[in-house]
Amino acid sequence: MVENEEIVIVGGGIAGVATAVALKRVGFRARVLERHQELRAGGTALNLSPNAWFALRALGVDHKLTSTYQIFTKSLITNLETGATQEMVLPMKKDRGDDIGTRCVKREALLKVLAEELPPDAIRFSSKLISIKSEILEDSSKITALHLDDGTIVKAKVVIGCDGVHSAVAQWLGLSQPLNSGRSAVYGLSVFPEDHGFEMMVWQYLGVGIRAGFIPLNSREVNWFFVHESSSLEQDVSRSPEMILKEITDNLAKDFPSNFLTVAKHTDLSSLAWAPLRFRVPWNVALGRAQDGNVTVAGDAMHPMTPDLGQGGCSALEDAVVLARCLSQAHKTAADDKQYVDERRWRVTGLIAGSWLSGWVQQSGSGAQKWWSGATRWIRDRYIYKFVLPWLVDLVWKDCGDLSSPVK
Ligand SMILES: Cc1cc2nc3c(=O)[nH]c(=O)nc-3n(C[C@H](O)[C@H](O)[C@H](O)COP(=O)(O)OP(=O)(O)OC[C@H]3O[C@@H](n4cnc5c(N)ncnc54)[C@H](O)[C@@H]3O)c2cc1C
Repeated sequence: MVENEEIVIVGGGIAGVATAVALKRVGFRARVLERHQELRAGGTALNLSPNAWFALRALGVDHKLTSTYQIFTKSLITNLETGATQEMVLPMKKDRGDDIGTRCVKREALLKVLAEELPPDAIRFSSKLISIKSEILEDSSKITALHLDDGTIVKAKVVIGCDGVHSAVAQWLGLSQPLNSGRSAVYGLSVFPEDHGFEMMVWQYLGVGIRAGFIPLNSREVNWFFVHESSSLEQDVSRSPEMILKEITDNLAKDFPSNFLTVAKHTDLSSLAWAPLRFRVPWNVALGRAQDGNVTVAGDAMHPMTPDLGQGGCSALEDAVVLARCLSQAHKTAADDKQYVDERRWRVTGLIAGSWLSGWVQQSGSGAQKWWSGATRWIRDRYIYKFVLPWLVDLVWKDCGDLSSPVK
């Protein structure tokens, strides 16, 4: 069976659904192909920095989340070796009457408010892309044929790959395979029967080759993470949530402060995951082919990055707004169709590099030689949280701008 569409988005994650919403706001209708039977966001939460809130404002959905999730203005960082703590201020500003800052939002809530903006048939579920072919029509225009696993062929004038880290569209474009950073993260959401009593801020713990922390979402729910150097251990236990939790509480974090262990012990097991942290080498994003004619990529499909600055999802939201704006401008003025990739590639290259560096230094040069690891720790404890991280955190104040009026 052959279906014809104007614009097809492959993948119904944050990038895919946000891009469909952004396109709708500028007057285009897009069809989202999602391999699962429903939208799946995982059970945990995301830190959304100011750049995400600027993008969500452009998408017209920020107000649906700001009343539920509050801004964090402080992070407390404890060095587990020395017991010393440092406080880092997370800035908050007024912009066009809105309070803009960092909020921690449940993944499923974010995906839900975005999906609510779309018409009911916008997302075609159980539609897994298996191969892509480019065809030249008689009038010499190009069309892309997307072959799905149920035998359907979807022909589209524009294809946007939002199919995540292992993107088939990125592979088709010739972008490099994401690399394993050598670090992995365990993450989960804890639910307390009553008020947990933790102050609403980002609690972080640093050890040798380890970084962990938690962030309360409200008085009963807490999002937490534990990042460490990858080992064969995770392959053995990562399929069983019970074993993952036991590994954290009885082994990896057994000497952690009681606050962290209390949070971990309240984990909702269905939210628990253990995954290696991957990224695309920044120079491939800066110089590689992220677009070929009418095919491009957004979100993790374009710029997988380690989560150390919490920017993967935030920058996917920026992508959505910029891509819709560029498509609408190209439609109205026949502007250069490479505008989107040109506008995004250096921005996301900086975020990939900044995230990797921030993770490497904060985990005291994970995987590095002992003397160098000690030197990195020394620098981290004296300078990183005072000078370097606040500078990196400034990267997150970028406003991707508004969306233009709808295309007629
Ligand atoms: C531990 C951890 C913590 C993080 N913390 C943060 C944070 O605090 N803040 C932040 O902004 N980001 C964070 N991130 C990053 C963030 O989760 C990702 O950047 C974001 O989810 C990317 O969204 P996406 O839509 O591009 O990809 P995905 O969420 O992976 O979505 C891809 C979608 O495409 C679908 N798909 C894949 N292949 C196909 C196919 N062949 N056919 C059809 N459909 C397909 C998938 O089913 C999926 O629905 C974190 C990541 C990790 C691992």
